[in-house]
Amino acid sequence: MKQGKLIIFSAPSGAGKTTIVKHLLKKFPSLSFSISATTREARGDEQHEKDYYFISKEAFLHKVAHQEFVEFEEVYNGTFYGTLRSEIQRIWDEGKHVIFDIDVEGGLRLKRKYEAHALAIFVQPPSLEVLKERLSGRGTDSEEKLQERFIKAEKELKYADKFDVVLKNFDLDTACAEAEKLIGDFLSQ
Ligand code: 5GP
Repeated sequence: MKQGKLIIFSAPSGAGKTTIVKHLLKKFPSLSFSISATTREARGDEQHEKDYYFISKEAFLHKVAHQEFVEFEEVYNGTFYGTLRSEIQRIWDEGKHVIFDIDVEGGLRLKRKYEAHALAIFVQPPSLEVLKERLSGRGTDSEEKLQERFIKAEKELKYADKFDVVLKNFDLDTACAEAEKLIGDFLSQ
């Protein structure tokens, strides 16, 4: 069984981790995105089997019962997200390293499991206020969903020091350049 490395990007929703991960995927052909399974509805132009495996709650719970997840979380009330074992293996079998865009608790769980094979990066937004502005500006969530995301974000910001690296995203270009350097170093180790 092949084993590659794991690069974990965690942060509160709205901190910019998805943009940074997309940037890295363009820069490093040896990286492949871990497509999570989720029970939430697709947003905007998101695609099944590209952004997420969008599945029903029944299908998700069936996979939980059959231990198909390396980690999973009820990230928001009633909405599940999880990393499938088969997804990590699929990527390693292609001879690639896995990059994750995952919530803080899931990220820490993966780090504990894979230890030195994994680099866990926490993306830090300039402030909770900026985070709130970014989330509201997306215009994709209802007011109730937004409130839930704000509360979770506030909690997640406290986990930063449990990660291998805290990457400040005050300016996106700078953050992307720093991320490139970190990943380049980690992959060449
Ligand atoms: P969104 O709904 O904005 O796509 O994602 C909500 C949160 O769930 C984000 O913080 C995202 O990184 C996280 N997430 C996505 N996939 C997974 C996963 O497989 N496991 C866990 N624990 N969190 C995930």
